[in-house]
Amino acid sequence: MNLVGELHDLLLSSTNTVVFTGAGVSTASGIRDFRGKHGIYNDTFHGYRVEELFGIELFNADPSLFYSWARDFVYDLTAFQPCTVHNVLARLERAGLVNAVITQNIDRLHTLAGSRNVLEVHGSPSLHHCQRCGAEATYEAIAPRVHAGEVPMCPCGGVFKPDIVFYGENLPQTTFSAAVSACQQADLMLVLGSSLTVFPAAALPEEAYRCGARVVIVNDSPTSLDRRAILKLEDLTDTFTQLCDLLKGRLP
Ligand SMILES: [Zn+2]
Repeated sequence: MNLVGELHDLLLSSTNTVVFTGAGVSTASGIRDFRGKHGIYNDTFHGYRVEELFGIELFNADPSLFYSWARDFVYDLTAFQPCTVHNVLARLERAGLVNAVITQNIDRLHTLAGSRNVLEVHGSPSLHHCQRCGAEATYEAIAPRVHAGEVPMCPCGGVFKPDIVFYGENLPQTTFSAAVSACQQADLMLVLGSSLTVFPAAALPEEAYRCGARVVIVNDSPTSLDRRAILKLEDLTDTFTQLCDLLKGRLP
């Protein structure tokens, strides 16, 4: 049997499959990797590396830098559509074959594809909060203001910040706890498109392994869990296209 056939059998024999996704699942949607050699973080903007724009201190000192950079990416996410992997994962969940998707991505594509139990451990721009009074605003309310060149301000005079986890901030506690718990209960953990280098999020698949889950990795470069994985595949789109064929009839 080929490797995708083995993945198919593992999926059908597991009772609690949890998926962990990184930037690699979104590159097929046209979203560039953040941390790779040619990743978004290495771009420069007004003399700063983009990675620095995601620092909370710089954001608080001058939010216009972040918002003028983010206008054409974070606030233009509707330009990107879910790809095969997002779509198949959503169908697997509807078929009862996947229980939760934990993602490091902030692009909302799992939700757009139809996944329901999505745990965004690095946050997302779906909501924004005022840095002064805590008032909430949606992506849909903020995006047009960013496109108009504004730094979105709250009526109280504070600045709205997207609920993306910036450097110097803690991970969202409730979401992270839910992710840890999902990992502890999983009997199958699929690690997709992540090289597992960004902690603490990358420790989640390790926690699943520690608690007895079988681990499958689909990533085009080595990961720290490769040696513990029961299966390692490389090409995400290929794997999920074949998997979808094998599951034909079972998927909604
Ligand atoms: Zn406010």
